[in-house]
Amino acid sequence: MRDHHRIAIIGAGFSGLGMAIRLKQQGIHDFVVLERADDVGGTWQANTYPGCGCDVPSHLYSFSFAPNPNWSRTYSLQPEIWEYMRDCSRRYGVEPHIRFRCEVEEAAWDEDAQVWRIETSQGPVTANVVVAGMGPLAEPKLPDIPGIETFKGRAFHSARWDHDHDITGKRVAVVGTGASAIQIVPAIQPRVAKLKVFQRTPPWIVPRRTDREITELEKRLYRAFPALTKIPRAVTYVARELLVLGLAKDPRLMKIPEAVALRHLRRQVRDPELRRKLTPDYSIGCKRILPSDDWYPALQQPNVELVDQGVKAVTETGLVAADGSEHEVDTIVFATGFHVTDMPIGQKVRGRGGVLLDDVWRGSPQAYLGATVAGFPNMFTLIGPNTGLGHSSMVYMIESQIRYVLDALRVMDERGLTSVEVRQDVQDAYNAELQAKMPKTVWMSGCASWYIDANGRNTTIWPDFTFRFRKRTARFDIEHYEVSTKVPEPVPAAA
Ligand code: NAP
Repeated sequence: MRDHHRIAIIGAGFSGLGMAIRLKQQGIHDFVVLERADDVGGTWQANTYPGCGCDVPSHLYSFSFAPNPNWSRTYSLQPEIWEYMRDCSRRYGVEPHIRFRCEVEEAAWDEDAQVWRIETSQGPVTANVVVAGMGPLAEPKLPDIPGIETFKGRAFHSARWDHDHDITGKRVAVVGTGASAIQIVPAIQPRVAKLKVFQRTPPWIVPRRTDREITELEKRLYRAFPALTKIPRAVTYVARELLVLGLAKDPRLMKIPEAVALRHLRRQVRDPELRRKLTPDYSIGCKRILPSDDWYPALQQPNVELVDQGVKAVTETGLVAADGSEHEVDTIVFATGFHVTDMPIGQKVRGRGGVLLDDVWRGSPQAYLGATVAGFPNMFTLIGPNTGLGHSSMVYMIESQIRYVLDALRVMDERGLTSVEVRQDVQDAYNAELQAKMPKTVWMSGCASWYIDANGRNTTIWPDFTFRFRKRTARFDIEHYEVSTKVPEPVPAAA
């Protein structure tokens, strides 16, 4: 049976869900959402590790068009964020459009028919437009170290937490000290017998000052006057945006958050030797700044040992640190991040002439406004290259791009266009402009971070104020696109 849709959205996380809701609000109902998991939520469905939550306050880290007056805390935990997304999916009527357990295996542009041909685990689908909303933090990354498969205990990635495995009373190793690990360690420390934390590079930690329960009175007010939720949203937005001055404009300003972080370390860690191990030797902000009040205290509990070494091998019984020391454990948690600049979408998508996205990118993902790629007509990537933020809400960036896609669909409709494809020269000029801004940013100040790709370029972060991104994406700039109006050949029925 023919399975054709005007739009195919890949993924039902904040990107795909937001796109689907906004399409419906515009009266566009001819779309399908292809989701590999069995529920909506994306990263908030996949990450269920103990302590999982968001370090961006919820009134900002949520859809502007769906304010939630019921957030229980300023910084929500994963179950509440996930429930918010499930609620949005039900409330806005997008659930009937979602195909769960439907993994996209390949997508190829058919120039003659002017459609995308998508192979999924549930059979072929065609669509005029593809919106790729898989997100950059979707594919867990295990470290490339020998012996992982030989370990006789239980080992898993933080984004694939094994809830059938009871860690109570076990000797556990957590590898990594990024945003995930600093939430996991304090949450599991009271339950385990022994906890070894492998730190290759200490993160910069700042106090989580505004973390608190939201009172019943506040919630009642938000319910009665939903517009009031805009106040904490705006306050957080502005406060976070001020950080861009230091991150992207004048890194000398980062001395201010650095002083705050060092004071936090001095206050929470008395032992000079431990303090030394926990003091970063790179500029604050070069890697994501992590807000936590319970990370340092957890590391000082009697059952916790900080191993300030990378891991170089796994044995049948435990881990071998970079200095050769051996550590026997029952369970290993790899909080080692995700495939970001080498995301698997590159291996799955073929544009005009059958060209593979990875072969175009060659290790350095590039797009125009993080949304369109020359050679890949009618494909929009949500939070594609250079749209990442270390300081504020990705939902803001997602909504900016959704607006851009909606406007593109409107323009295509009005002009009877069958395809739009960003001009190569426009994409090149845009990326040259972004890269010209990079050298003076803190992200390029010399640390090793997942923002930097295999060619040493920062193809992950948006290097400016986020309101500038919103302004750039406010209108679909058709003049920057090659367009086609040819009458396509009829789409043959899918086999
Ligand atoms: P990550 O930031 O990429 O951290 C990975 C950690 O693993 C780093 O500490 C890294 O050390 C370490 N590592 C990798 N290989 C190692 C090895 N062989 N030996 C020892 N350590 C090793 O990953 P993540 O913590 O999952 O966070 C990823 C992103 O997810 C965050 O930056 C953030 O954008 C998002 N996130 C957000 C929240 C939130 O609250 N909003 C929470 C969790 C995650 P090096 O630093 O030395 O490379």
